[in-house]
Amino acid sequence: MKSNFKKKALITGISGQDGAYLSEFLLKKGYHVVGGERQNASGSLWRLKELKIENKVEIIPFELLEENNINHVIRTEKFDEIYNLAAQSFVASSYNTPLFTSNVNALGVGRILEAIRHFSPSTRLYQASTSEMYGNTKSKKQNEVTIFEPTSPYAISKLYAHWMVSLYREAYGIFCCSGILFNHESPLRGKEFVTKKIISDLAKVKFNLIPCLKLGNIYSKRDWGYSKDYVEAMWKMLQQKKPDDFVISSGSTHTVKSFVNKAAREFGFELTWKGHGIKEVAFDKKTNKMVVKINKAFFRPTEVNYLFGDSKKANKTLKWSPKTDLNKLIKIMCDYELSKYV
Ligand code: NDP
Ligand code: GDP
Repeated sequence: MKSNFKKKALITGISGQDGAYLSEFLLKKGYHVVGGERQNASGSLWRLKELKIENKVEIIPFELLEENNINHVIRTEKFDEIYNLAAQSFVASSYNTPLFTSNVNALGVGRILEAIRHFSPSTRLYQASTSEMYGNTKSKKQNEVTIFEPTSPYAISKLYAHWMVSLYREAYGIFCCSGILFNHESPLRGKEFVTKKIISDLAKVKFNLIPCLKLGNIYSKRDWGYSKDYVEAMWKMLQQKKPDDFVISSGSTHTVKSFVNKAAREFGFELTWKGHGIKEVAFDKKTNKMVVKINKAFFRPTEVNYLFGDSKKANKTLKWSPKTDLNKLIKIMCDYELSKYV
């Protein structure tokens, strides 16, 4: 089976946003794509269906909490590359489930690294690290040498995995890389994340299905890029002569409020903001309809206020740069949302 393909790759978390785009990308490169799906999964490979590739990938059971399962998969399949995208990926949930989040995101990666070390040491590993690890760093732009100051259980769990990858590279010579990816979005982004929530709820407001969009902290800044651009960088990392870590980011940073204003325009709203703190609201200038309201339920116990990545190293070494700016990304996401209503 393997001989018909150039390379065989395992994508853990194949049912997620990045798993879908990376599958599409690797299939175009001629890979045999094997997708890991957890046993008690959401049960839906809707993103693969959306990209019309659900019949082109092989799905196998894969659970980050289960050492025997991981050992068996890595020992028997002998992948050329593993992309570990699986995670409890939602920061807000990590405050409610800090130990579970660590077991999945931190120890889960330890389990993969141990399995590679013992059973398949020539397999190359990509680990999904995150800009959340920078926390509230003072650095104006964050790159590979910026000090990490994680401020959530999610970020702390990801930082453990990040350091383990670095250790296994140094101590055991495993080809493993961490991509420190800044926030990246797409029409396939999970609804709990702020960009998708904003766009999905603004569409509902437009079609009078809900009264308004409710948000938490709209003053945090994020460096948002397009998932489809970012999966290419993951692949490029594993094609290098030497393993290393890379920051992948968009080149700009914006507040959540600015994202709302831009997205609202795509739905025909021109917002005007009034009030402060949790009393702040946004009205549509033309109709005077209230479109956005603040709700304290969506604030987090601790917040990452500002993220702005510097991906010069990826640009120079991987010859990677983002192709899609924020305005284009918002248009892609809004057009997709609107297409569901016509
Ligand atoms: P998603 O939340 O869309 O996907 C996460 C995937 O992990 C899903 O397929 C999920 O399966 C799977 N999963 C969750 N728990 C387990 C488990 N215990 N065992 C096996 N699989 C599990 O995330 P994204 O695609 O957006 O992100 C991919 C990776 O990149 C994640 O690790 C995330 O933390 C990281 N990251 C993402 C960023 C972003 O902005 N998107 C930024 C930086 C890093 P199921 O469908 O069953 O829930
Ligand atoms: P994160 O950067 O990985 O936490 O990605 P999110 O998309 O979940 O959140 C981005 C930012 O939006 C964070 O600063 C959140 O506090 C902020 N935010 C404000 N309101 C909301 C909301 O209703 N949902 C989410 N998910 N985030 C919100």
